[in-house]
Amino acid sequence: SEMAMYEAKKLGKNQVVYFNSTMNEHLKLHTEIDEILKVQDKENIFTMVYQPIVNAVTKKIVSFEALIRMKDRKYSPMEFIGIAETTGEIQALGRWITEEVIKQISLWNMQGISAVPIAINFSCKQMLDHGYLSFFENTLDKYGVLPTQVVIEITESVFMDIRYNGVNFINEFKKMGVIVALDDFGTGYSSLIYLTNINFDKVKLDRSFIQKLIDDKSVKVLSGIIHMLHSIDVSVVAEGVEDEIQSRTLLSCGCDELQGYYFGRPLGPNHVLSFVEPSSK
Ligand code: C2E
Ligand code: MG
Ligand code: MG
Ligand code: MG
Repeated sequence: SEMAMYEAKKLGKNQVVYFNSTMNEHLKLHTEIDEILKVQDKENIFTMVYQPIVNAVTKKIVSFEALIRMKDRKYSPMEFIGIAETTGEIQALGRWITEEVIKQISLWNMQGISAVPIAINFSCKQMLDHGYLSFFENTLDKYGVLPTQVVIEITESVFMDIRYNGVNFINEFKKMGVIVALDDFGTGYSSLIYLTNINFDKVKLDRSFIQKLIDDKSVKVLSGIIHMLHSIDVSVVAEGVEDEIQSRTLLSCGCDELQGYYFGRPLGPNHVLSFVEPSSK
């Protein structure tokens, strides 16, 4: 109508065009990622990389975290995992990730390298995949991998939504003997209630928390938190450790394990081999 045109003119042509194109770009991106996620042969598009986690005292590798990548690196997991969660594609992708990592663990076992547990990120929306737990157990069986070789990393936002029945889901992993870690601790969702409901084996301190470790007060707060976690038999991993000062501070706070670019970037499976000592057989 004439009135609407008048309003648009008043706003200024640039503003109107800018607004529309941003929306369009956003939609295009969402649609493009959605198309990528729907592809059946996931191994053509995705690959897993593995980032070392070291003992805070000895600096020896004690674990790796598996992280997904697009082979062409076009979009980051931050971009496509969120979309996969809203469309439901995370269920198929989550199963692919699970099998890919378990297959890799069995390969490493056969190559005789020291068997350290490998962490898999588990999205809360995967709890809506009701066959997942039996798929997980069957996949372990298929590749002859022990549940104790797998860590499930789960973000605490999961427990906010009652539909997921997150406590039960996680207890099923625990019953199998899988190691369970609470991811991104110290971010918006933090609540101490989760720690009393679920027997987590590990808590992973978020990178944003580590970056703020610059004064005496935050060091005292962190030491207190770690002390509390140790008293309930939870070990503590710091994420995003980027320099030696952070590494030393975290050790002095009582942190058990460290992960970050300072110790190693995520690596392709073949590069992981050169990183770990052969097991003494
Ligand atoms: P997250 O599980 O908290 O993973 C840690 C993220 O921190 C990874 O980002 C890792 O590359 C990054 N990082 C590690 N050390 C450093 C450091 O020293 N400095 C900085 N700046 N970053 C560091 P990435 O791989 O981009 O993954 C981002 C998030 O995407 C993950 O956060 C996780 O929530 C999700 N994600 C990644 N892979 C998977 C997956 O296979 N499945 C699911 N469900 N989610 C995944
Ligand atoms: Mg993680
Ligand atoms: Mg996470
Ligand atoms: Mg994290």
